[in-house]
Amino acid sequence: MQSLTILGATGSIGVSTLDVVARHPDRYRIFALTGRTQLARLAEQCTRFKARYAVVDDPHAAARLQTLLSEHGSTTEVLHGADQLAAVAQAPEVDTVMAAIVGAAGLRPTLAAARAGKRVLLANKEALVMSGALFMAAVESGGATLLPIDSEHNAVFQALPAGYARDPGAAGVRRVLLTASGGPFRDRAVDSLARVSPDEACAHPNWAMGRKISVDSATMMNKGLEVIEAHWLFGVPAERIDVVVHRQSVIHSMVEYADGSVLAQLGNPDMRTPIAHALAFPERIDAGVSPLDLCAIGRLDFEQPDHRRFPCLPLAYAALRAGRGVPAAMNAANEVAVDAFLAGRLSYLSIARVVDAVMTRLSGAGDASIEELEAVDAEARALASERVLSAEAA
Ligand code: NAD
Ligand code: MG
Repeated sequence: MQSLTILGATGSIGVSTLDVVARHPDRYRIFALTGRTQLARLAEQCTRFKARYAVVDDPHAAARLQTLLSEHGSTTEVLHGADQLAAVAQAPEVDTVMAAIVGAAGLRPTLAAARAGKRVLLANKEALVMSGALFMAAVESGGATLLPIDSEHNAVFQALPAGYARDPGAAGVRRVLLTASGGPFRDRAVDSLARVSPDEACAHPNWAMGRKISVDSATMMNKGLEVIEAHWLFGVPAERIDVVVHRQSVIHSMVEYADGSVLAQLGNPDMRTPIAHALAFPERIDAGVSPLDLCAIGRLDFEQPDHRRFPCLPLAYAALRAGRGVPAAMNAANEVAVDAFLAGRLSYLSIARVVDAVMTRLSGAGDASIEELEAVDAEARALASERVLSAEAA
């Protein structure tokens, strides 16, 4: 029986995780569930899965959640604040932590889980992008097991040899090939992108996801974040990580070996597959995902990503090559720009412009400690907010 904390239980990944958990009550029990909004959903989840703890942001949300839980007759204990988020991620009773908070906000509790030597199921790519070196060092020193949930990285993990030790040379790995769907704007005239709305950007052709990652998929910042994520997870340098547009989203990524072999992982685009894989690893369990029907799909297409259409992708490669605190600056600027776009305060094409400008200003950013990275994150947010304001004024 694995005892599980889900950070970000109310989100898209959190809900999919609980769907898999519900199929295997003999294997998993819930220790803690966390969420920032959607308190009614959190109350239902806590009641149904008999969570011992629920963690929310502030005392106000805690009081509201408490009322909802009492109505359900639930015995879940309500906690709040950043320290409690970390506490339920590192508690001795916990075996596995699903890190599914979106954005830099997930860094501290995910790091706490890594330091405490948990089995960490990593969906929160922003945490790794922000603090790759320190995060991987924490995984190592804490003796944690890190299992990727991002579908591409989970695919790469499955295509790598068992026990792969972040050394591509030793394993005969030549390249990692990350697939990208191309998002909702892959066929749209580049000139018309200035006018796209948040709802259009969130209408992903193949995946149903949270709004932030959906916008990132449209701009391909998501793929850029994933290039950086792959670098840290698998120890592969930027020049050995390629992105290929594959519109069917059936091949979730590939590993190319020195002998010319290319291993791919395929499946329907449903996050319950990587979630079930990581939950049960090295065993295999039912995820509730329908079998892949290759004949119904008919064909698999591949093309080069167009950097004019997706300027965030080269920005992310540049951030990875620059290293140190630059990926953290890029990530923070992107979070601010995407928030502003979703709120109708910034045009779609300005997202990349804001990120580019902030990266240029913070090209010397350091990464010596988590505190320094959090300072870079804060400075990048302030600079990005200024840019958003001046874009609004223009
Ligand atoms: P989502 O927006 O649906 O859910 C986010 C969760 O985090 C919610 O539970 C929310 O309450 C919580 N949260 C948000 N801000 C918070 C804060 N400041 N403090 C505490 N909790 C906070 O997002 P999602 O689509 O489930 O994505 C979660 C993570 O997984 C992201 O990092 C995303 O990049 C990654 N991911 C998602 C998918 C997917 O299919 N949805 C695929 C791959 C990777
Ligand atoms: Mg992905």
